[in-house]
Amino acid sequence: MSAILEDFTSIRGVSLIKIKEAKDEGQKVVGIYCTYCPQEMILAAGAIPVSLCGTSETPIADAETVLPRNLCPLIKSSYGFAVTDTCPFFHFSDLIIGETTCDGKKKMFEIMQEIKPVYVMQLPHLHQLDAALELWIKELRRLRSTLEEELDVEISDEKLWDAIRKVNHETMAVKAICDLNKKNPPVLNGLDLLTVTWSRNFSSDKEELFTMLNELQQELATNQESEANANKPRVLLTGCPVGLGSEKVIRLVEESGGLIVAMENCSGYKTLELQSDTELDDPIIALAQKYMEIPCSCMSPNPYRFELLERMLEEFQVDAVVDLTWQACHTYNIEAFTVGNLVRDKGLPYLHLESDYSSSDLETLKVRIEALLEMVV
Ligand code: SF4
Ligand code: SF4
Repeated sequence: MSAILEDFTSIRGVSLIKIKEAKDEGQKVVGIYCTYCPQEMILAAGAIPVSLCGTSETPIADAETVLPRNLCPLIKSSYGFAVTDTCPFFHFSDLIIGETTCDGKKKMFEIMQEIKPVYVMQLPHLHQLDAALELWIKELRRLRSTLEEELDVEISDEKLWDAIRKVNHETMAVKAICDLNKKNPPVLNGLDLLTVTWSRNFSSDKEELFTMLNELQQELATNQESEANANKPRVLLTGCPVGLGSEKVIRLVEESGGLIVAMENCSGYKTLELQSDTELDDPIIALAQKYMEIPCSCMSPNPYRFELLERMLEEFQVDAVVDLTWQACHTYNIEAFTVGNLVRDKGLPYLHLESDYSSSDLETLKVRIEALLEMVV
């Protein structure tokens, strides 16, 4: 692993120290769970946005004393970290922002309010309806007022535009790295790709993050060592988000001889084409338009996910698709039907997996992944 890639593995630890110092100096921290949360608003408020999504099995048993067992492990892990106070990022958060995405998450946020202040944005579930965009614009204005009140700051348009430019820039830089894997051989394996795309969400210093992303992009663009990735089946991972700690399917694909070239999920490419329009007059409208486009399965219908997937199959020269649904995630589970049809229509092998964060099904998953890879011609 290159030195720059190594730096991404230490982002969480480094950020934790910086966040502790910033808090001691009076800066506020806001915890976020989902890509629908406009982190630009938190940055414009002078606070630090931190990613909180649970990717570890460890706190799930504690979560199950309150939440049903038959619930998505991501929700149980997130709540488990909160209720056991074992996530330092949650511990340092002054305020949590949630959204009404899937049913499990929105009901969990109601219970989480007993532990910390949780502010929930009402997310409409239709991309195309004007009324949905109007509601979302109002929700973003409500978030702005809430942050101003809770954090005792003023969020000016100027600060918002500044934050918007920063996040646009970061998104472009991450996309440029992911796009290098369109090459043959790809420059990053799936685990390294995840290390970059997931770990960057923990950075508390955007300027430092830009530097790291740019350096990595330049290093990878001239990388001569990617021959080790040649001739491996190029696999696209779609479905529910994964992170370090819940990456077992990526590991299994790569241990079985495949290579994850791209991830069309929230840990990967799902939001990377989306930019806020800096030509508009109102930064809230620019943010609302961008965030409404996120192709999460909680949207109904969700056409942009299928357009994106279709393009990614071509552009990343994909040989096979693995579609991962976390246990009890109904929306991704049902969309798997349409994803499967789309992939098979392209003449590509498709594997839908349902799993949780435990290691109890590793052998079964491995057998099924090996069978998928054998289908690659
Ligand atoms: S999959 Fe949907 S609910 Fe989950 S983090 Fe992504 S946008 Fe949010
Ligand atoms: S993986 Fe599915 S059930 Fe779990 S939080 Fe995301 S959308 Fe909700």
